[in-house]
Amino acid sequence: MNQKFVMLGIPGAGKGTQAKKLSDKLGIVHISTGDIFRNAAKDGSELGKKAHKIMTAGNLLPDEIVIGIVKERLSKKDAFDGYILDGFPRTLNQAQEFDKIEDLGAVISLTLEADEAVNRIEGRRSCGSCNGHFNVYLDKIETNKCPVCNEELTLRSDDTKDTIKVRIENYIKQTAPLEDYYSSKGILKEINGNQSVEDVYKDMLAAL
Ligand code: AMP
Repeated sequence: MNQKFVMLGIPGAGKGTQAKKLSDKLGIVHISTGDIFRNAAKDGSELGKKAHKIMTAGNLLPDEIVIGIVKERLSKKDAFDGYILDGFPRTLNQAQEFDKIEDLGAVISLTLEADEAVNRIEGRRSCGSCNGHFNVYLDKIETNKCPVCNEELTLRSDDTKDTIKVRIENYIKQTAPLEDYYSSKGILKEINGNQSVEDVYKDMLAAL
């Protein structure tokens, strides 16, 4: 079975959470382009500085940079037999360029209304100490302390009100058309993302 998967969905749909679960289950690598750029931003490289500026404005990085980074990452041994790409492709041009080098097994699209996506993103927090990811609403966290290690929880720098709006608009304009693109290729699996994490996961496994 071709285990090369792409995860599509509006910011906040749960791509990262579901990609991680699938990666653990199938033993294939989870590659998040957002994480790659956030790590680059932390290390202060030229790419990192550029990425940080664009990300905190909620915009997309240029296609040629993203495609180059993805190609390089997929050339590593751990991605030879399969992977779950989370956050790539995000434009039609990225998808078409990617088609020239890879043959995907399935594209999982997590569907969620924009209003619900905004609510979810506003509740997102992470812990710099244990690297846990939480949602203060869903996980009923009232103190802003990590429920695992009690450290202070932080907000992603692009999870602010203004940036969320731009990211969602960019998704609708630039990324949502990919659903039709992959549907016409017969590899799109649409999953209702407006359910509990476990129910989304169950539906996703059934669809694959
Ligand atoms: P994410 O963690 O997937 O929400 O990505 C965070 C940010 O990284 C995005 O808002 C973009 O600025 C950048 N980024 C991640 N993946 C891509 C991509 N495929 N194309 C362009 N920009 C991207």
